[in-house]
Amino acid sequence: MEKSTLLFFRSRPQGLASNAALLSSMQSLESSFFLIALRRYPHALSTCASAFEMAIQAAPIGAGKDNRLQTLIAKARHNSAAIARIPQDRLDQFRDARNRIIHRGFGPKDASESTSLYLEIALPLLEASYRDFHSYDVTDALLQEYVELLKVAQEVHRRAKTLQGYDLSYSLNAFGHLIRWRFKENFSTGWEIHALDHADEIGLKFENIEREKERLGRLFGPSWSFDCPLCNQPQSVVAELDETELDTLEVTPKRMACTVCGFVVHELHLFLSEVLLQNQIVNARSQILKEYGLE
Ligand SMILES: [Zn+2]
Repeated sequence: MEKSTLLFFRSRPQGLASNAALLSSMQSLESSFFLIALRRYPHALSTCASAFEMAIQAAPIGAGKDNRLQTLIAKARHNSAAIARIPQDRLDQFRDARNRIIHRGFGPKDASESTSLYLEIALPLLEASYRDFHSYDVTDALLQEYVELLKVAQEVHRRAKTLQGYDLSYSLNAFGHLIRWRFKENFSTGWEIHALDHADEIGLKFENIEREKERLGRLFGPSWSFDCPLCNQPQSVVAELDETELDTLEVTPKRMACTVCGFVVHELHLFLSEVLLQNQIVNARSQILKEYGLE
C-alpha cells in the first residue's frame, strides 16, 4: 500500500496504517500549520480542534455514538491527568470559539484570541491525547525546527499576553514564515522560482546579501549579525540593539531581518527578536559589549 502523506513528521505512531482516524488527526494538525502560514488563525484553531476530535475517536476511549466536541473533551479529561489539569473554563472558551468560527465565520479581531487558544489549549490538548491515548510523543515526532519555533511562539505569547490591546497572532510569525520558506515552491509562481535559481547560478545571491546587510546596518542604530534561527544561514540576520539597554550593559534586540529568507521582526513585535536570538546573545554578549566599548 502507498504510504500516506505526512509532511511535518519524522516518525509515525505504531499501527498507523490500520488506524485511519489517527492518520486523519495528524493530517489535520499539519493542515492547521499551513493555515498559520497563510495567517488564517481562526481556521487553524478549528482544524486543530478537528485533529483532537479524531485523536479521541481513534483511541480506545473514543468509541461511542456521541461525537460532539463537548463529550470528547469530557471523556479525555476523565482518562488523562494532564488533560484534567487544563482549566475547564479555558476548555469551554476553546469549544465556544471553535463553534463560533465553524458556524458564523471570523473577522480580523478573532486572530488574537484564536492564537491564544491554539497555543495554550489546542496544542497541549492534542499533545496529551497523542501521548496518553496513542503512546505517541508528538513533540519528538515532529521535525524539530518546527517544534523549536512553536516553543518560541508559546514563550513570546506568554510574555506578551499581559499587554493590553495587542494582536498576539504575531507570536506565530516565525513559525509561519519557516513554513512559507520551506514550501516556497508550493506558494510561488514559476517565474519567481526561476529568478531564485538564476540568481544563485550567477553568484548574485551572495553579493545581494552583503549589500542588503550593509543597507540594514546603516538603517539600524547599534546592530549585530547573527545566524538565522529560521533558515540557519550563518550571519545572515542583522538585529538592531536597544541603545538604552546597551548603556546598562544589557544586549536586547529590538528588531531584526534575515537577508536570505526575508524574515523580518518589527519593533512593535515585542519579545520576538529577544526569544529567537536569546541563545546566540548569551554567547556573543561580551564580544558585543567590547565592540561598543562598554567592557
Ligand atoms: Zn533566514
